[in-house]
Amino acid sequence: MNKKNIIVISGPSGSGKSSLIEKLFNKYKLNFSISHTTRAIRGKEENGIDYHFVSKNTFETMIEQNEFAEWAKVYLNYYGTSWEEIKNKSDKGDILILDIDIQGAKKIKEKFNEAVLILISPPSLSELEKRLINREKRNDNDIKTRLKIALSELEEFQIYDYIIINDDLDKSFEKLDTIFSAFKNRTQFISNELLEITKNWNN
Ligand code: ADP
Ligand code: 5GP
Repeated sequence: MNKKNIIVISGPSGSGKSSLIEKLFNKYKLNFSISHTTRAIRGKEENGIDYHFVSKNTFETMIEQNEFAEWAKVYLNYYGTSWEEIKNKSDKGDILILDIDIQGAKKIKEKFNEAVLILISPPSLSELEKRLINREKRNDNDIKTRLKIALSELEEFQIYDYIIINDDLDKSFEKLDTIFSAFKNRTQFISNELLEITKNWNN
């Protein structure tokens, strides 16, 4: 399958992916790939909007039935992007945003060579810790596990096309917006406009 409209955004939990993606959605009409996960609902999250929250059994059945374009065990839970999500949403033509981890990013790149991969990094480990504790109002083993894994995720930065070090949120958004604007000017998004211009050229 040759999908040319996929942007993958990865980065350690707490690096700022959701905050940046939200800003992108406030500015542009886009599609978001809603992943399946076995993790518990957090804060104001809603089933079917932030994730499809499913049981471990359901997720494992979906794996057996080859329903995922990619899936991974991230931290202590399963996460996956279903083929249905990719097919339904990328066929609509608009850009499709995937917020997935590095394991998923690699698999998406293998399957969709023209996908653009963006890595969001925190400015430091201590800042990442602060943001996670602040967001979740707790400091438990789950947060400690995510901090441990953060470094290993960042070490594989070479697979990404772009890296944004998210220190100041507004400045990071400007960078993301620049990457995004370039992507939007790719031939496949502009070709109809150009064809329209040249249609009656020789008449
Ligand atoms: P992710 O989606 O990568 O897990 P979030 O977007 O939820 O991360 O950000 C984690 C926390 O850090 C949130 O409370 C968010 O408001 C905050 N945050 C995100 N970016 C910044 C930034 N540049 N400066 C300060 N706080 C930030
Ligand atoms: P969180 O639990 O903080 O929402 O997400 C934890 C991690 O799982 C993040 O790095 C996020 O990008 C990743 N993730 C979310 N959905 C998917 C998915 O469908 N596939 C993969 N591989 N990772 C995902």
